[in-house]
Amino acid sequence: MTDTLADAVSATPEPVWPIPSSLSPSRVSSFTSCPMQFRFSSVQRLPEPPGVATTKGSLVHRAIELLFELPNTQRTRAALDHCLDSALAEYATHPDYVGLRLDERGAASFERDCRKLIERYFDMEDPTMINAIGLELRLAAQVGSLELRGIIDRLELDDDGELVVTDYKTGRAPSGHFEQKSLSGVHFYSFLCEAVLGKRPAKVRLMYLSSGETIETVPTAQSVRFIDTRTAAVWKAVERACTTGEFRPNVSRLCDWCSFQEWCPAFDGDPDLAATEAVERYEQLTSTASDTAG
Ligand code: SF4
Repeated sequence: MTDTLADAVSATPEPVWPIPSSLSPSRVSSFTSCPMQFRFSSVQRLPEPPGVATTKGSLVHRAIELLFELPNTQRTRAALDHCLDSALAEYATHPDYVGLRLDERGAASFERDCRKLIERYFDMEDPTMINAIGLELRLAAQVGSLELRGIIDRLELDDDGELVVTDYKTGRAPSGHFEQKSLSGVHFYSFLCEAVLGKRPAKVRLMYLSSGETIETVPTAQSVRFIDTRTAAVWKAVERACTTGEFRPNVSRLCDWCSFQEWCPAFDGDPDLAATEAVERYEQLTSTASDTAG
């Protein structure tokens, strides 16, 4: 680990809010997109209602993970169909699925979309040729009081014995302008690989299953250093926001999907009510989900 990030993780004055003890790519992205949302989700850790897109993504990830647990020669289209069946069965009583409260038509459409995504996956690569050495691999590196962590969808060895990080995406591929930004998550993973496994991956890939596009990049010493510097800057900003209590709302298109909009000051909400109301809303939803599941 370089000194840059280690220097940033230092003693701080008494904070208004507890400072999170870990950072992941999604937390870095959450803070840089909207500090106010970061406060709700990562500092106060308020529960969010499940969303169709997120649950679909988790379920498809699970189906592909099950496929890669099979020996190479058994990774066929039919096998992936069975893996999706298993994933659907696993999720049938999961709060993230039941909480969606899909009617019969909605559930059929949800399943149809999942099948389309795994069908597209098979057009993108031949899983029998992949030498996967890690699935849903959790990596964490301690830097002072801060833990950097991430979950790698798939870590594999290429024909030259080099590491390759692959991340599946079920959303749309970004336009060229946002491509580099979307790669920062996988660069973070290559940073973790180097810190934990002592080896920088030869390649990082994002597979966009909805469009069939793959974005690849080769991590370099410079890209790893950039993650180090950027994470240090984000960490400093997180510390500052927790210490002062000032989490700025950043209004953008993402507000349309924000679970905390009704408590956001940018939308005339009172953030101090979120702690009780968001929990009540979630409990109501999950108790309805349990009733439905039962
Ligand atoms: S509604 Fe928008 S500005 Fe407010 S917390 Fe959510 S993302 Fe941030």
